Amino acid sequence: MIVTRFAPSPNGPLHLGHAYSAMVAHDLAKQAGGRFLLRIEDIDGPRSRPELADAFRRDLAWLGLEWEEVPAQSTRLAGYSAAAQDLLARGYLYRCTCTRAEIEAQGAKMGSQGLVYPGTCKTRPADPDRPAALRLDVARALADVGALTWEDAPAGPQVADPREAGDVVIVRKDAPASYHLAATLDDAADGVTLVTRGMDLFAATPIHRLLQALLGLPVPRWHHHGLLVDDSGHKLAKRRGSPSLADRREAGEDGLLLAEQLRLHSFPAGISLASA
Ligand code: GLU
Repeated sequence: MIVTRFAPSPNGPLHLGHAYSAMVAHDLAKQAGGRFLLRIEDIDGPRSRPELADAFRRDLAWLGLEWEEVPAQSTRLAGYSAAAQDLLARGYLYRCTCTRAEIEAQGAKMGSQGLVYPGTCKTRPADPDRPAALRLDVARALADVGALTWEDAPAGPQVADPREAGDVVIVRKDAPASYHLAATLDDAADGVTLVTRGMDLFAATPIHRLLQALLGLPVPRWHHHGLLVDDSGHKLAKRRGSPSLADRREAGEDGLLLAEQLRLHSFPAGISLASA
């Protein structure tokens, strides 16, 4: 049975790109007689606005999508901590007190997941008086689990090399998990078999594949879809003037028609689908 999910973070309203993503995940599941899940990814501290989750549900219903909602991330913190403690005890995580400014000053390059951490705290004792994140010792983890592959439905077989992203944060200074840990654990707990999301997260998948190997989690398949972009090639975002789904809904636009147009790749003027 195919199980897909839409996993929005309630730190801003949904826009057309999210509608496309939800529709793709919904249709991949429903066309195969499978299940489509909604998971609210609300562990972004003060950036998470609970009232937005309600608007998200209204948006999906307006688009004519049917979903099963699984528990929001904020209710799963104990599980994230337990997994992180396990990884820490097995020597795969290290404490890191560096601030973003310090990491920049260390000459870090930009990678697909933000700054590529140069590993400074890996070889020095972390100051116990400063707040610390826990980072994944990617070299150590890979040495233990060996080569990893993963399967993307549109893009085909992939070799997972998480080194490009560097030693990513697994436990944030301000939250018991990073996106990588929380989403990987949740997809396993929710029985997701086809992780459906935008191409912007393609490069995060090797990290998730490595976490699955370390934590003994089942390995799903992935479907990374193209992103909706504006005529300057930028991902749609409210701050660049893309109206939210709530705006469209409240203005009386027909959500069923919009979903059907997205299915047909018939996008509003100035919006197109970027394949990579
Ligand atoms: N919560 C993430 C976002 O809103 C999506 C994560 C995922 O689909 O893996 O961008």
